[in-house]
Amino acid sequence: MVNGQAYDYDRQLSDGIGPRLTGSDNYVHAVSWAQDQFRNLGLSNIHTESFNMAALWEPEVPATGHIIEPRNQTLHIYSAGWSPSTPDGGVTGKVVYVPQLLPIEKLEAMKEKLAGNIVLIDNTSLGEHPAIGDLIKGLTTLGTVAPQAVLLTGRANGSQNAGSLAVGGGLSKFPVAQIGLEDELLIKRLLEKGPVTIQFSFKNRIRPATEVNNVIAEIPGRDLPKEIVIVGAHLDSWHPATGAQDNGTGVATVLEVARAIKSLNRPPRRTMRFILFGGEEQGLIGSTAYAKKHAADMASIDAVLISDTGGQASKGWYLMGREDEKEALANIEPLLTGMGAGGTSTDTEFLFETDHAGFDVQGVPTLVLWNGVDKYFKLHHQASDSFDSVVQADLNQGVAVTAATAYAIADSDQPFAPHLSPTEVETMLKKANELDNYIALKSMDWVP
Ligand SMILES: [Zn+2]
Repeated sequence: MVNGQAYDYDRQLSDGIGPRLTGSDNYVHAVSWAQDQFRNLGLSNIHTESFNMAALWEPEVPATGHIIEPRNQTLHIYSAGWSPSTPDGGVTGKVVYVPQLLPIEKLEAMKEKLAGNIVLIDNTSLGEHPAIGDLIKGLTTLGTVAPQAVLLTGRANGSQNAGSLAVGGGLSKFPVAQIGLEDELLIKRLLEKGPVTIQFSFKNRIRPATEVNNVIAEIPGRDLPKEIVIVGAHLDSWHPATGAQDNGTGVATVLEVARAIKSLNRPPRRTMRFILFGGEEQGLIGSTAYAKKHAADMASIDAVLISDTGGQASKGWYLMGREDEKEALANIEPLLTGMGAGGTSTDTEFLFETDHAGFDVQGVPTLVLWNGVDKYFKLHHQASDSFDSVVQADLNQGVAVTAATAYAIADSDQPFAPHLSPTEVETMLKKANELDNYIALKSMDWVP
């Protein structure tokens, strides 16, 4: 917390390298930068392992768009991630408002009205956490109604809130744009009075399927080197900003935990494995590929600790369905309480939203750093996710919590927590009310 380098690591990554869309030139630069850092720290077994991305995507010409009927007005508009470019000359069409993507019967009933038009989806109608299976059915149905394009809503003041309607690193079937919240509200008011026609265009640079790298490095364990504690975070980011908190702070945490523990000259009993994943923002692609490739080694992974909720001070750890971990953490609770982070959250809202998921569903005990998110959620995936938003003392506290927890687990006489059998995983997911989401995500290869 005093001499930590996390703040400087994040500055090098976010200011120095910049936005890191999976597989982009900046991403590739970040991969070699991360390997250099691990090398400078004297870590062992530094290497990359690749995963496949169905396509690489970057904006090439920024989006422009206007309402042209009933009157002219410029829109705050952006291409969604992994959207194809608009055709030459752009997209021009009537807007049809879809108040409800779900249930799909209602969407199907609108089929004729939607075909060939620009479909404006009310994001709020999906609810905070729609069932993933239903959402996929809704999006698949949307594909079959053959819209000319789809409009999603962003946040207030036209700020870009990067996201994607495509899954698995592939492209959406039709151009998808995001407009500002006020633009959506205006279009809806205009639609109450009569037809609304809009025009927009953007060009994205799309490259075909390719291999992209995760970065791995280790501190070998002092007497149980075959048992592994993983500390990880995703290296990729969205493009509107430099991803200083999503997930620069997570990457900086992984590097600083490695630096701090290596500098002790007393490795813990178990091997510490540091992993920076890619493709997280397109659906956990890098971590899922890793967890699948190493499926036979899951029994040797004692715990997986992930940081991916920004750089506000940590309150403790998300247990993500593993309530038994509360007991496992009790041993080090006084240490964490001393840093203001003795809490555990059993909230399963984010169960499938970051890189622990591929391990969690294979029965490996996992923890996700539980940070305050009130400031983070206002900048996450937006232009304001830049280095100036990072508070050094808060970042250092989260790093210290991660380092202390990881070291204690890796140095313990006992394994951290039991590995669950597939049946026990199902029981856990059922109890967390997440079994249906798991089945839907598994069918899409989102998790192993
Ligand atoms: Zn993230």
